[in-house]
Amino acid sequence: MDFCQNRAEWQRNPQKLFSSGRFNRRSDKKKQMHILTSWLPIPADSDFSLYNLPYGVFHTGDGRARAGIAIGDHIVDLAAAAGSGLFGKRRFFKKIFEQNTLNDFIALGKPLTGRVRKKVQDWLTRSSAPANAESLLVNRLTAQMLLPVHIGNYTDFYSSIEHATNVGKMFRPDNPLLPNWRWIPVGYHGRASSIVASGTPVRRPWGQILPPGQETPVFAPSRQLDFELEMAFVIGKNSVLGEPVPTEKADEYIFGLVLFNDWSARDIQRWEYVPLGPFLGKNFASSVSPWIVPLEALRPFRVKSPKQNPAPLPYLQTRGAQNYDIALEVALSTGEKTKQTIVSRSNTKYLYWSMAQQLAHHTINGCNVCVGDLMASGTISGPEAGTYGSMLELSRGGKEPLTLNDGSSRSFLENGDRVIMRARAEKNGVRVGFGEVDGVILPEQVR
Ligand code: CA
Repeated sequence: MDFCQNRAEWQRNPQKLFSSGRFNRRSDKKKQMHILTSWLPIPADSDFSLYNLPYGVFHTGDGRARAGIAIGDHIVDLAAAAGSGLFGKRRFFKKIFEQNTLNDFIALGKPLTGRVRKKVQDWLTRSSAPANAESLLVNRLTAQMLLPVHIGNYTDFYSSIEHATNVGKMFRPDNPLLPNWRWIPVGYHGRASSIVASGTPVRRPWGQILPPGQETPVFAPSRQLDFELEMAFVIGKNSVLGEPVPTEKADEYIFGLVLFNDWSARDIQRWEYVPLGPFLGKNFASSVSPWIVPLEALRPFRVKSPKQNPAPLPYLQTRGAQNYDIALEVALSTGEKTKQTIVSRSNTKYLYWSMAQQLAHHTINGCNVCVGDLMASGTISGPEAGTYGSMLELSRGGKEPLTLNDGSSRSFLENGDRVIMRARAEKNGVRVGFGEVDGVILPEQVR
Protein backbone atom coordinates (compact mmCIF):
# COMPACT_ATOMS: atom_id res chain seq x y z
CA MET A 1 0.00 0.00 0.00
CA ASP A 2 1.30 3.44 -0.84
CA PHE A 3 0.64 5.69 2.10
CA CYS A 4 1.87 8.71 0.19
CA GLN A 5 -1.24 8.68 -1.99
CA ASN A 6 -4.39 10.46 -0.92
CA ARG A 7 -6.83 8.19 -2.62
CA ALA A 8 -10.04 8.18 -0.68
CA GLU A 9 -12.53 11.00 -0.41
CA TRP A 10 -12.36 10.94 3.37
CA GLN A 11 -8.67 11.72 3.17
CA ARG A 12 -9.29 14.69 0.91
CA ASN A 13 -12.17 16.04 2.92
CA PRO A 14 -12.10 14.58 6.42
CA GLN A 15 -14.33 17.30 7.88
CA LYS A 16 -17.26 15.88 5.91
CA LEU A 17 -17.29 12.89 8.20
CA PHE A 18 -18.16 14.98 11.17
CA SER A 19 -20.71 17.24 9.57
CA SER A 20 -23.30 15.50 11.73
CA GLY A 21 -21.80 17.37 14.67
CA ARG A 22 -21.39 14.25 16.74
CA PHE A 23 -18.10 15.58 18.00
CA ASN A 24 -18.05 18.70 20.06
CA ARG A 25 -15.17 21.08 19.64
CA ARG A 26 -14.17 21.91 23.20
CA SER A 27 -10.45 22.41 23.25
CA ASP A 28 -8.26 19.65 24.65
CA LYS A 29 -6.01 22.30 26.13
CA LYS A 30 -8.70 23.74 28.34
CA LYS A 31 -9.74 20.30 29.55
CA GLN A 32 -6.13 19.41 30.42
CA MET A 33 -6.12 22.09 33.08
CA HIS A 34 -8.69 20.07 35.01
CA ILE A 35 -7.90 17.02 37.05
CA LEU A 36 -9.26 14.06 35.15
CA THR A 37 -10.64 11.04 36.98
CA SER A 38 -11.93 7.75 35.70
CA TRP A 39 -14.29 4.99 36.80
CA LEU A 40 -11.49 2.66 35.69
CA PRO A 41 -8.75 2.07 38.28
CA ILE A 42 -5.54 3.51 36.82
CA PRO A 43 -2.37 2.95 38.86
CA ALA A 44 -0.93 6.29 39.97
CA ASP A 45 2.50 5.34 38.63
CA SER A 46 1.21 4.25 35.22
CA ASP A 47 2.82 5.74 32.11
CA PHE A 48 -0.58 5.50 30.47
CA SER A 49 -2.61 8.15 32.28
CA LEU A 50 -5.82 9.85 31.14
CA TYR A 51 -3.62 12.67 29.79
CA ASN A 52 -1.57 10.34 27.61
CA LEU A 53 -3.83 7.99 25.60
CA PRO A 54 -1.18 6.68 23.20
CA TYR A 55 -2.07 4.62 20.14
CA GLY A 56 -0.84 1.13 19.31
CA VAL A 57 -1.72 -2.02 17.38
CA PHE A 58 -2.23 -5.33 19.17
CA HIS A 59 -3.75 -8.79 19.06
CA THR A 60 -4.70 -11.19 21.83
CA GLY A 61 -3.43 -14.47 20.41
CA ASP A 62 -6.12 -14.76 17.77
CA GLY A 63 -4.02 -12.95 15.17
CA ARG A 64 -6.77 -10.37 14.75
CA ALA A 65 -4.78 -7.14 14.73
CA ARG A 66 -6.58 -3.97 15.72
CA ALA A 67 -5.83 -0.51 17.03
CA GLY A 68 -6.01 0.42 20.68
CA ILE A 69 -5.35 3.18 23.17
CA ALA A 70 -3.38 2.31 26.32
CA ILE A 71 -4.93 3.33 29.62
CA GLY A 72 -3.40 2.13 32.91
CA ASP A 73 -3.22 -1.66 32.81
CA HIS A 74 -5.76 -1.84 29.98
CA ILE A 75 -6.22 -1.13 26.30
CA VAL A 76 -9.31 0.50 24.87
CA ASP A 77 -10.03 -1.69 21.83
CA LEU A 78 -10.68 0.95 19.18
CA ALA A 79 -12.21 -1.54 16.74
CA ALA A 80 -14.70 -2.62 19.40
CA ALA A 81 -15.30 1.01 20.36
CA ALA A 82 -15.98 1.84 16.71
CA GLY A 83 -18.35 -1.13 16.49
CA SER A 84 -20.25 0.15 19.51
CA GLY A 85 -20.77 3.47 17.75
CA LEU A 86 -18.54 5.54 20.03
CA PHE A 87 -17.19 7.55 17.09
CA GLY A 88 -20.29 7.41 14.84
CA LYS A 89 -19.87 6.09 11.26
CA ARG A 90 -19.51 2.54 12.58
CA ARG A 91 -18.44 0.77 9.40
CA PHE A 92 -15.99 3.47 8.46
CA PHE A 93 -14.19 3.52 11.80
CA LYS A 94 -14.27 -0.27 12.20
CA LYS A 95 -12.45 -0.52 8.88
CA ILE A 96 -9.93 2.09 10.01
CA PHE A 97 -9.20 0.31 13.29
CA GLU A 98 -9.36 -3.34 12.18
CA GLN A 99 -5.94 -3.13 10.57
CA ASN A 100 -2.41 -4.05 11.48
CA THR A 101 -1.15 -0.48 11.10
CA LEU A 102 -2.30 2.97 12.22
CA ASN A 103 -1.45 4.64 8.90
CA ASP A 104 -5.02 5.05 7.69
CA PHE A 105 -6.07 6.41 11.06
CA ILE A 106 -3.16 8.85 11.23
CA ALA A 107 -3.87 9.95 7.63
CA LEU A 108 -7.33 11.14 8.73
CA GLY A 109 -5.56 14.23 10.03
CA LYS A 110 -5.27 15.79 13.45
CA PRO A 111 -8.75 17.36 13.57
CA LEU A 112 -10.23 13.86 13.35
CA THR A 113 -7.67 11.86 15.32
CA GLY A 114 -7.87 14.50 18.04
CA ARG A 115 -11.63 14.05 18.24
CA VAL A 116 -11.35 10.28 18.46
CA ARG A 117 -8.91 10.83 21.32
CA LYS A 118 -11.38 13.21 22.96
CA LYS A 119 -14.23 10.70 22.61
CA VAL A 120 -12.14 8.04 24.33
CA GLN A 121 -11.10 10.46 27.07
CA ASP A 122 -14.73 11.44 27.63
CA TRP A 123 -15.76 7.76 27.71
CA LEU A 124 -13.09 7.02 30.32
CA THR A 125 -14.01 10.01 32.47
CA ARG A 126 -17.75 9.40 32.67
CA SER A 127 -19.12 9.52 36.20
CA SER A 128 -19.66 5.74 36.25
CA ALA A 129 -18.58 2.73 34.22
CA PRO A 130 -20.43 2.59 30.88
CA ALA A 131 -22.46 -0.55 30.16
CA ASN A 132 -20.08 -1.51 27.35
CA ALA A 133 -16.94 -1.07 29.48
CA GLU A 134 -16.10 -4.76 29.60
CA SER A 135 -16.47 -5.32 25.87
CA LEU A 136 -14.23 -2.37 24.99
CA LEU A 137 -11.38 -3.06 27.42
CA VAL A 138 -8.55 -5.55 27.05
CA ASN A 139 -6.09 -6.46 29.80
CA ARG A 140 -2.75 -5.10 28.59
CA LEU A 141 -0.90 -8.17 29.89
CA THR A 142 -2.84 -10.41 27.52
CA ALA A 143 -2.05 -8.30 24.46
CA GLN A 144 0.76 -8.86 22.00
CA MET A 145 1.91 -5.49 20.68
CA LEU A 146 2.83 -5.08 17.01
CA LEU A 147 4.75 -2.44 15.11
CA PRO A 148 2.27 0.46 15.26
CA VAL A 149 2.78 1.88 11.77
CA HIS A 150 3.95 0.82 8.36
CA ILE A 151 7.19 2.80 8.09
CA GLY A 152 7.83 3.73 4.49
CA ASN A 153 10.94 5.76 5.15
CA TYR A 154 13.28 6.06 8.08
CA THR A 155 15.70 8.93 8.67
CA ASP A 156 18.23 9.10 11.48
CA PHE A 157 19.54 12.43 12.70
CA TYR A 158 22.55 13.23 14.88
CA SER A 159 21.01 16.01 16.96
CA SER A 160 22.67 15.70 20.36
CA ILE A 161 25.70 17.95 20.67
CA GLU A 162 26.93 15.93 23.65
CA HIS A 163 26.77 12.69 21.67
CA ALA A 164 28.40 14.19 18.57
CA THR A 165 31.14 15.69 20.76
CA ASN A 166 31.76 12.47 22.71
CA VAL A 167 32.00 10.38 19.55
CA GLY A 168 34.01 13.06 17.72
CA LYS A 169 36.56 13.15 20.58
CA MET A 170 37.38 9.49 20.03
CA PHE A 171 38.47 10.29 16.47
CA ARG A 172 39.58 13.93 16.75
CA PRO A 173 40.39 14.87 20.38
CA ASP A 174 41.23 18.51 19.56
CA ASN A 175 38.35 19.18 17.21
CA PRO A 176 35.46 16.86 18.02
CA LEU A 177 32.66 18.69 16.19
CA LEU A 178 32.99 18.90 12.43
CA PRO A 179 32.57 22.41 10.95
CA ASN A 180 29.08 21.72 9.58
CA TRP A 181 27.58 20.37 12.82
CA ARG A 182 26.30 23.64 14.30
CA TRP A 183 24.83 24.68 10.93
CA ILE A 184 23.08 21.53 9.74
CA PRO A 185 20.89 19.05 11.59
CA VAL A 186 23.07 16.21 10.29
CA GLY A 187 21.16 13.09 9.23
CA TYR A 188 21.15 10.12 6.86
CA HIS A 189 18.57 7.85 5.28
CA GLY A 190 18.26 4.65 7.30
CA ARG A 191 16.61 1.34 6.53
CA ALA A 192 12.88 0.92 7.25
CA SER A 193 12.59 -2.82 6.54
CA SER A 194 14.57 -3.87 9.62
CA ILE A 195 12.69 -1.72 12.14
CA VAL A 196 11.10 -4.14 14.59
CA ALA A 197 8.56 -4.03 17.40
CA SER A 198 9.74 -3.97 20.99
CA GLY A 199 10.41 -7.49 22.25
CA THR A 200 11.81 -8.77 18.94
CA PRO A 201 15.22 -10.38 19.58
CA VAL A 202 18.18 -8.93 17.73
CA ARG A 203 20.73 -11.26 16.15
CA ARG A 204 24.39 -10.27 16.38
CA PRO A 205 25.42 -9.22 12.88
CA TRP A 206 28.42 -10.42 10.87
CA GLY A 207 30.46 -7.99 8.86
CA GLN A 208 33.83 -6.67 7.75
CA ILE A 209 35.95 -5.49 10.65
CA LEU A 210 39.43 -4.00 10.56
CA PRO A 211 41.36 -5.31 13.59
CA PRO A 212 43.39 -2.59 15.35
CA GLY A 213 46.81 -2.04 13.76
CA GLN A 214 46.03 -4.15 10.68
CA GLU A 215 45.56 -3.25 7.06
CA THR A 216 43.16 -5.91 5.87
CA PRO A 217 39.73 -6.59 7.31
CA VAL A 218 38.38 -9.86 8.68
CA PHE A 219 34.84 -11.19 8.25
CA ALA A 220 33.49 -11.85 11.74
CA PRO A 221 30.55 -11.35 14.09
CA SER A 222 30.53 -7.85 15.56
CA ARG A 223 32.36 -7.62 18.89
CA GLN A 224 31.20 -4.08 19.55
CA LEU A 225 27.43 -4.38 19.50
CA ASP A 226 25.77 -1.32 21.00
CA PHE A 227 22.44 0.38 21.61
CA GLU A 228 21.53 3.98 20.83
CA LEU A 229 19.01 5.78 23.04
CA GLU A 230 16.81 7.80 20.72
CA MET A 231 13.38 9.35 20.39
CA ALA A 232 11.65 9.24 17.02
CA PHE A 233 8.69 11.06 15.55
CA VAL A 234 6.03 9.64 13.27
CA ILE A 235 4.95 11.76 10.31
CA GLY A 236 1.20 12.40 10.39
CA LYS A 237 0.63 14.26 7.14
CA ASN A 238 1.95 13.90 3.60
CA SER A 239 3.89 16.86 2.32
CA VAL A 240 4.06 17.84 -1.33
CA LEU A 241 7.13 16.91 -3.37
CA GLY A 242 9.03 20.11 -4.09
CA GLU A 243 7.54 22.05 -1.16
CA PRO A 244 9.45 22.45 2.11
CA VAL A 245 7.74 22.15 5.51
CA PRO A 246 8.70 25.30 7.46
CA THR A 247 9.58 25.04 11.15
CA GLU A 248 6.37 26.78 12.20
CA LYS A 249 4.30 24.10 10.48
CA ALA A 250 6.19 21.14 11.94
CA ASP A 251 3.51 20.38 14.54
CA GLU A 252 0.98 19.82 11.75
CA TYR A 253 3.20 17.12 10.29
CA ILE A 254 4.32 15.36 13.46
CA PHE A 255 1.72 12.89 14.71
CA GLY A 256 3.51 11.59 17.77
CA LEU A 257 6.65 10.14 19.32
CA VAL A 258 8.06 6.69 20.08
CA LEU A 259 11.14 5.49 21.93
CA PHE A 260 13.75 4.16 19.57
CA ASN A 261 16.73 1.85 20.06
CA ASP A 262 18.95 2.14 17.02
CA TRP A 263 21.17 -0.92 17.48
CA SER A 264 24.69 -0.36 16.15
CA ALA A 265 27.76 -2.47 15.43
CA ARG A 266 30.61 -0.06 16.12
CA ASP A 267 33.41 -2.16 14.64
CA ILE A 268 31.56 -2.67 11.36
CA GLN A 269 30.59 1.01 11.34
CA ARG A 270 34.17 2.20 11.90
CA TRP A 271 35.52 0.38 8.83
CA GLU A 272 32.68 1.09 6.42
CA TYR A 273 31.54 4.66 7.17
CA VAL A 274 34.00 6.53 4.96
CA PRO A 275 32.98 8.27 2.70
CA LEU A 276 29.21 7.70 2.49
CA GLY A 277 28.31 7.26 6.15
CA PRO A 278 26.55 4.52 8.13
CA PHE A 279 25.46 1.34 6.32
CA LEU A 280 25.58 -2.29 7.53
CA GLY A 281 26.74 -1.36 11.02
CA LYS A 282 23.36 0.32 11.50
CA ASN A 283 20.70 -1.28 9.33
CA PHE A 284 20.44 -4.80 10.80
CA ALA A 285 17.82 -3.78 13.40
CA SER A 286 16.18 -0.84 15.14
CA SER A 287 13.49 -1.33 17.80
CA VAL A 288 10.50 0.93 18.50
CA SER A 289 8.25 1.18 21.53
CA PRO A 290 4.72 -0.03 20.76
CA TRP A 291 2.75 3.06 21.82
CA ILE A 292 2.78 6.28 19.82
CA VAL A 293 2.36 9.17 22.23
CA PRO A 294 0.47 11.88 20.34
CA LEU A 295 2.07 15.31 20.20
CA GLU A 296 -0.89 16.93 21.98
CA ALA A 297 -0.25 14.78 25.07
CA LEU A 298 3.28 16.15 25.25
CA ARG A 299 2.37 19.81 24.90
CA PRO A 300 2.55 20.54 28.68
CA PHE A 301 6.14 19.28 28.72
CA ARG A 302 7.54 21.60 26.11
CA VAL A 303 10.70 23.45 27.17
CA LYS A 304 13.19 25.79 25.56
CA SER A 305 15.97 24.28 23.46
CA PRO A 306 19.62 24.82 24.34
CA LYS A 307 20.93 28.12 23.00
CA GLN A 308 22.21 27.73 19.47
CA ASN A 309 25.47 29.37 18.57
CA PRO A 310 25.89 30.48 15.82
CA ALA A 311 22.27 31.43 15.10
CA PRO A 312 20.93 28.96 12.55
CA LEU A 313 20.18 30.05 9.00
CA PRO A 314 16.71 31.64 8.63
CA TYR A 315 14.95 28.46 7.42
CA LEU A 316 16.02 26.69 10.65
CA GLN A 317 14.97 29.40 13.07
CA THR A 318 12.12 28.70 15.47
CA ARG A 319 10.00 30.55 17.99
CA GLY A 320 8.89 29.43 21.43
CA ALA A 321 9.63 26.23 23.31
CA GLN A 322 10.61 23.52 20.84
CA ASN A 323 12.08 20.80 23.05
CA TYR A 324 10.40 18.33 25.40
CA ASP A 325 11.30 17.52 28.98
CA ILE A 326 11.08 13.73 28.78
CA ALA A 327 13.24 11.70 31.17
CA LEU A 328 14.94 8.72 29.53
CA GLU A 329 16.66 5.69 30.98
CA VAL A 330 18.44 2.61 29.74
CA ALA A 331 18.42 -0.61 31.77
CA LEU A 332 20.74 -3.50 30.99
CA SER A 333 20.46 -7.05 32.28
CA THR A 334 22.69 -9.99 31.48
CA GLY A 335 19.90 -12.56 31.59
CA GLU A 336 16.27 -13.04 32.48
CA LYS A 337 16.97 -13.73 36.12
CA THR A 338 19.61 -11.12 36.81
CA LYS A 339 18.98 -7.68 38.20
CA GLN A 340 18.74 -4.78 35.82
CA THR A 341 21.30 -2.01 36.01
CA ILE A 342 20.32 1.48 34.96
CA VAL A 343 23.32 2.38 32.82
CA SER A 344 22.08 5.74 31.56
CA ARG A 345 19.68 8.51 32.52
CA SER A 346 19.20 11.19 29.88
CA ASN A 347 16.51 13.59 28.68
CA THR A 348 15.16 14.73 25.30
CA LYS A 349 15.53 18.35 26.46
CA TYR A 350 19.29 18.14 25.79
CA LEU A 351 18.76 17.86 22.03
CA TYR A 352 20.51 20.73 20.23
CA TRP A 353 18.41 20.43 17.06
CA SER A 354 14.65 20.25 17.63
CA MET A 355 12.22 18.06 15.71
CA ALA A 356 10.89 21.15 13.92
CA GLN A 357 14.40 21.95 12.72
CA GLN A 358 15.03 18.34 11.69
CA LEU A 359 11.85 18.28 9.62
CA ALA A 360 12.43 21.72 8.08
CA HIS A 361 15.95 20.72 7.09
CA HIS A 362 14.82 17.34 5.72
CA THR A 363 12.31 19.02 3.39
CA ILE A 364 14.13 22.27 2.52
CA ASN A 365 15.31 20.80 -0.79
CA GLY A 366 11.77 19.70 -1.68
CA CYS A 367 12.03 16.13 -0.39
CA ASN A 368 8.51 15.04 0.60
CA VAL A 369 7.51 13.15 3.73
CA CYS A 370 4.74 10.57 4.02
CA VAL A 371 2.35 9.40 6.72
CA GLY A 372 4.15 6.76 8.78
CA ASP A 373 7.67 7.92 8.00
CA LEU A 374 9.90 7.74 11.04
CA MET A 375 12.52 10.32 11.95
CA ALA A 376 14.84 9.53 14.81
CA SER A 377 16.75 12.07 16.88
CA GLY A 378 20.08 10.30 16.97
CA THR A 379 21.58 9.16 20.27
CA ILE A 380 20.49 11.44 23.10
CA SER A 381 23.35 12.01 25.51
CA GLY A 382 23.40 14.45 28.39
CA PRO A 383 26.28 16.57 29.61
CA GLU A 384 27.83 14.27 32.22
CA ALA A 385 28.88 10.66 32.76
CA GLY A 386 25.84 8.47 33.44
CA THR A 387 23.74 10.40 30.91
CA TYR A 388 25.34 9.03 27.76
CA GLY A 389 23.05 7.21 25.35
CA SER A 390 25.35 4.45 24.04
CA MET A 391 27.86 1.92 25.37
CA LEU A 392 30.45 3.48 23.06
CA GLU A 393 30.29 6.63 25.17
CA LEU A 394 29.55 5.00 28.56
CA SER A 395 32.59 2.71 28.31
CA ARG A 396 34.70 5.33 26.50
CA GLY A 397 35.14 3.20 23.44
CA GLY A 398 35.59 0.06 25.55
CA LYS A 399 38.45 1.47 27.65
CA GLU A 400 36.39 1.77 30.86
CA PRO A 401 33.97 -1.17 31.15
CA LEU A 402 30.84 -0.66 33.26
CA THR A 403 30.25 -2.80 36.34
CA LEU A 404 26.68 -4.09 36.50
CA ASN A 405 24.57 -4.91 39.56
CA ASP A 406 25.19 -8.64 39.12
CA GLY A 407 28.96 -8.09 39.29
CA SER A 408 29.61 -8.61 35.60
CA SER A 409 31.25 -5.96 33.46
CA ARG A 410 30.43 -4.69 29.98
CA SER A 411 32.13 -2.57 27.35
CA PHE A 412 29.66 -3.57 24.65
CA LEU A 413 26.69 -5.98 24.54
CA GLU A 414 27.12 -9.73 25.01
CA ASN A 415 24.82 -12.48 23.78
CA GLY A 416 21.79 -12.83 26.05
CA ASP A 417 22.00 -9.21 27.21
CA ARG A 418 18.70 -7.42 27.38
CA VAL A 419 18.39 -3.66 26.82
CA ILE A 420 15.27 -1.89 28.06
CA MET A 421 14.67 1.80 27.41
CA ARG A 422 12.01 3.82 29.19
CA ALA A 423 10.77 7.39 28.84
CA ARG A 424 8.38 9.52 30.79
CA ALA A 425 7.36 13.14 31.24
CA GLU A 426 5.99 14.32 34.57
CA LYS A 427 4.72 17.69 35.73
CA ASN A 428 2.24 18.85 38.38
CA GLY A 429 1.22 15.29 39.14
CA VAL A 430 0.48 14.55 35.48
CA ARG A 431 2.43 11.68 33.96
CA VAL A 432 2.78 10.86 30.30
CA GLY A 433 5.05 7.91 29.60
CA PHE A 434 6.15 5.78 26.69
CA GLY A 435 6.34 2.38 28.38
CA GLU A 436 9.35 0.41 27.22
CA VAL A 437 11.27 -0.67 24.18
CA ASP A 438 13.23 -3.82 24.83
CA GLY A 439 15.31 -6.33 22.97
CA VAL A 440 17.57 -9.30 23.71
CA ILE A 441 20.79 -10.06 21.84
CA LEU A 442 20.88 -13.46 20.17
CA PRO A 443 24.17 -15.13 19.17
CA GLU A 444 25.29 -14.73 15.59
CA GLN A 445 24.11 -17.22 12.96
CA VAL A 446 26.46 -20.14 12.43
CA ARG A 447 28.26 -19.62 9.10
CA1 CA B 1 21.22 6.33 15.33
